[in-house]
Amino acid sequence: MLKAIQVLSSSSSSRLFGCRWKPLTTTSGTAISLSANPLSHHSTTAPRFKSSSLSLRPVSDRSSEPVRVYSTGSDPKMEAAPSPSPPSPSPTALSAASSRKINFCQWCGGATKHEVPDGEEKTRAICTLCGKIAYQNPKMVVGCLIEHDNKILLCKRNIQPSFGLWTLPAGYLEVGESAMEGAMRETWEEAQAEVEVLCPFAQLDIPLIGQTYIIFLAKLKKPHFSPGPESSDCQLFSLEDIPFDSLSFSSMVVTLKLYLEDVKSGRLKFHYGTINKRPGTSPSDSHAYTLDNHMQS
Ligand SMILES: [Zn+2]
Repeated sequence: MLKAIQVLSSSSSSRLFGCRWKPLTTTSGTAISLSANPLSHHSTTAPRFKSSSLSLRPVSDRSSEPVRVYSTGSDPKMEAAPSPSPPSPSPTALSAASSRKINFCQWCGGATKHEVPDGEEKTRAICTLCGKIAYQNPKMVVGCLIEHDNKILLCKRNIQPSFGLWTLPAGYLEVGESAMEGAMRETWEEAQAEVEVLCPFAQLDIPLIGQTYIIFLAKLKKPHFSPGPESSDCQLFSLEDIPFDSLSFSSMVVTLKLYLEDVKSGRLKFHYGTINKRPGTSPSDSHAYTLDNHMQS
């Protein structure tokens, strides 16, 4: 059951207007703002695409040659998914470990074998019946960092993982939508808020669990929000009150710390970085990370 919609005073001046990133102007010259109703994404008549439709046929029609099929088959959980047991596994070891989780072909149901295909370097799950190879590619998580009246909108998770912890509204990008559309949809689903995206703020890769986060700066189109089904609460936090000890994921910790640093410096930037778990730390410890390869505009 949804809680009552909170009505807030609108902000005439947002800190985000100082963002240096200017969206490309369209023929109408307006900023990035989609008119589509975020709910339309879930229309029952809307076509839905499975990632398995992203198939590449082999150049050769030799039946013995494995069919390479690219799939976003990573763990469907968000960042708090358990990591493999070694603290710092190599990409090759990770590939082998994740491919061994695939015991049956997702296209024909046949049993898989786990081998390094000809011409490749990593172990893959290969169907023993149809020959297709199940490639596992990283998933993209998209979300919004929303400022209103010099506060940030956070949602309290009503689902696992990280139940009861705070997060920016964010979730998995769907096939058929852009990163920006996905971020707006997730914001609607988790905070029942319509937003205008202002500019990209951060891309954060987490190679260990095969995820890339893209977080956009945004503002509320209307001063309304309320918890969606995946949230138990939504609140605006002043910057000094952001609950860093109760944040859900290291990606959120990094994003909000970068944001606070930018605000302190007086200029918002675009950030890229790689989040790596510190060896020997718990995968559920959102503060046990290093931010590597940090670049900023
Ligand atoms: Zn098969």
